[in-house]
Amino acid sequence: MFEKVLIANRGEIAVRVMRACSELGVETVAVYSEADRNAGHVRYADEAYNVGPARAAESYLDGEAIVDAGERAGAEAIHPGYGFLAENADFAARVEESSLTWIGPSSDSMRLLGEKTSARRAMSEAGVPVVPGTTDPVDSAEEIAEFADEHGYPVAIKAEGGGGGRGMKVVSGPEEADDQLESAKREGEAYFDNDSVYLEKYLEAPRHVEVQVIADREGEVRHLGERDCSLQRRHQKVIEEAPSPALADDLREEIRGAAREGVDAAEYENAGTVEFLVEGEEFYFLEVNTRIQVEHTVSEALTGIDLVKEQLRVAAGEPVSFAQEEVSLDGHAMEFRINAENAAAEFAPATGTIGTYDPPGGIGVRVDDALRGGDSVGGEYDSLIAKLIVQGRDRAECIARSRRALAEYEIEGLVTIVPFHRLMLTDEAFRAGEHTTNYLDEELDPERIEEAQERWGPAGSAGDDDADDDEEGETVEREFVVEVNGKRFEVNLEDRSGFAAAAEAGGSGSGGRSRAGRSGGGNEGGQSTSDDDSGDSGGDGTSVSAEGEQVTADMQGTILSVDVAAGDEVSSGDVLCVLEAMKMENDVVASFGGTVAEVAVSEGQSVNMGDVLAVLD
Ligand code: ADP
Repeated sequence: MFEKVLIANRGEIAVRVMRACSELGVETVAVYSEADRNAGHVRYADEAYNVGPARAAESYLDGEAIVDAGERAGAEAIHPGYGFLAENADFAARVEESSLTWIGPSSDSMRLLGEKTSARRAMSEAGVPVVPGTTDPVDSAEEIAEFADEHGYPVAIKAEGGGGGRGMKVVSGPEEADDQLESAKREGEAYFDNDSVYLEKYLEAPRHVEVQVIADREGEVRHLGERDCSLQRRHQKVIEEAPSPALADDLREEIRGAAREGVDAAEYENAGTVEFLVEGEEFYFLEVNTRIQVEHTVSEALTGIDLVKEQLRVAAGEPVSFAQEEVSLDGHAMEFRINAENAAAEFAPATGTIGTYDPPGGIGVRVDDALRGGDSVGGEYDSLIAKLIVQGRDRAECIARSRRALAEYEIEGLVTIVPFHRLMLTDEAFRAGEHTTNYLDEELDPERIEEAQERWGPAGSAGDDDADDDEEGETVEREFVVEVNGKRFEVNLEDRSGFAAAAEAGGSGSGGRSRAGRSGGGNEGGQSTSDDDSGDSGGDGTSVSAEGEQVTADMQGTILSVDVAAGDEVSSGDVLCVLEAMKMENDVVASFGGTVAEVAVSEGQSVNMGDVLAVLD
C-alpha cells in the first residue's frame, strides 16, 4: 500500500478519499486554490499545497502544478476524485509518466471507454445493446434528417466529449436541426475543447440505471449491483437509490451481467460505472464513467464495501478484497445531493456564510461533507456541498428514515435544496418509484416546489412575493423559545424596525435573508463547499447590467461565444456574447447603442457573477 497520497480535488469527495486513506494508514496531501485556503479538505489533510490563484476552478485543473505538488510532497499516488481532472486521459497519462501512480484506470482505458463513441463501439462488440445512434461525427442537418427517417424524432445530438449533462441537444423536428446542431457543437467546444458531435435516438421516458464495477490488475471484475438515478433535472442527477425500484429481477441480472462483460472485454482496471437507459423491457448502454462517482456511496451503503479503499488497493497492485459471492445487496439506500441551490428559483445557485451547521445522525444515516459553521460558499465551485445517504431494510423504511433525517438537517445562512428533497419524499410518483428521467422537468408542478421552499426553506427563498422586501426598513423573522407553564414553545416574531437585519448573521443566497418559521421541528438548508462531476451554476435568463459602460455577468457561467470585437458598433439589443448558465444559453445583449471599447472574455472562459464581459463607449 502507498504511504502518502495526493488528492487532486476539494470539498466532500476530497475528505471522503482522505478518510479511506486514514483507515489504511496512508498519509494525505491536499491541494487548494487561494479561495480554499481554509476549506474543509485542507483542514482534514496531513499537509497541503497551494496550487493556484484566487480564480477558483482553474487551480484544480492545473495538472502541472498538481503533479509538482505531489512530487514535492513525496506522495506516491494521485487520487482525482470526480470532476476537475478525473476523466482527463491526458492528465492520467501525465501522472503515469511521473513518479506517481494514477488511482484510476489507465489513460488508454480512459480513452477507449471515456469517449462516448469509442465506448459505444467497444460495448457493441462485446455484445452489449447500445442506444441506436451513430459512431461517426455528424456535421449537417441532412445527416440528422436521414437518421430521423430511420429512427424517428426526437433525435439527441451529443458532444463526443460531453459530461455532466452538458453537450446534449434534443431535436424534435427538422426545423430545429440547424440551431441545435450549432448549439451542441458550441457547447462541446466551450466545455470539452471538442466540437465533434454524434447522434442518438432520444428515448422519451427512460429510467437511468447504472452498474458499479471494480476490477483489479489480474482482470478480476466485481459488480456492486445497480443504482437508479432517474430523478434528474436537466439530465443531472438529484436523488439516487439502490436497488432500482423499476426493474424485474431477470432484467436486473441481465444489466448487471452486461456491465461486467463489457468492462471485462475492455480490460478495465479500478472503479467505474457503466450507465444504461432502460425503457420497458429494453436496456441500452449509455456511457462509462471511468472514475468514482458522486453516488458511489449508495452502493457502499448496501454492500458495506468501501469503494475508495478498493480503488487504493487495486492501484497499489493488490487484488480486489472480496469475491462476487460475498457481495450482499440487502435493503435499500438513497442519496440526496445537498446543493446550495434555490429550487423555487429554477435551482439557481446560492451563496452565503454558514451559521449553525447541524447535520442529521442516528441509525442508517451517513453525511459526507467538508463543512462547518462559519464557512463561506462563494459560488466559485459546483453547488454540491454535501451528501446525505440513508439506508433502510426496505424502500419504505428508507423513505421514512430519509424524511426524518432531512427534517433534522439544520443549515443556517444559505439556501439549499433540502426542502425540495422533502417534497420528493411526499410525492406520489417518486414514492411509487414510477418517475422517469423527465419527471422533474416535464411533470412536476413547479408550484409545489415553491410551496415546499416556503414551508421548509429560509424566509424569502420561495419567490419574490416576500413582504419583507419593502424599501423602508427590512422585516426580519426571529425565532424565540419561550416556556409557558413549563412547556416549551418555539415562536417566530417579525421585527419590522429595520434594525434587526443588520445584526443578523447569515447568507444572501438566492433570496433567503433570515430564518422562517418552522413547523414540526423542521429546518432549512445551506452550507459550504464541495464538488460535483460536472459543472456548475449560473442564473436563469442571465442578462446584463450596465454599470456605467461596463457590461457585467449577472450569473456565474461559461462563455459559449463572443459575437463582437473591439471597435464594432452595436445597437441596443445586439448580442455581445452567449453565456451558458444553469445549462441554459443566455444572450448577453447591449442595453444601449455605442462602440465596443473592449471585449474582456473569450470563448470557453468561465466567469463569475459581476465579472466584466465587455466595455461599451
Ligand atoms: P453526461 O455524460 O452528460 O452525463 P449521459 O450520456 O450520461 O451524459 O446522459 C445523461 C442523461 O441524459 C441521462 O441520464 C439521460 O437522462 C439523458 N440522456 C442521454 N442520452 C439520452 C438518450 N439517447 N435518450 C434519452 N435521454 C438521454
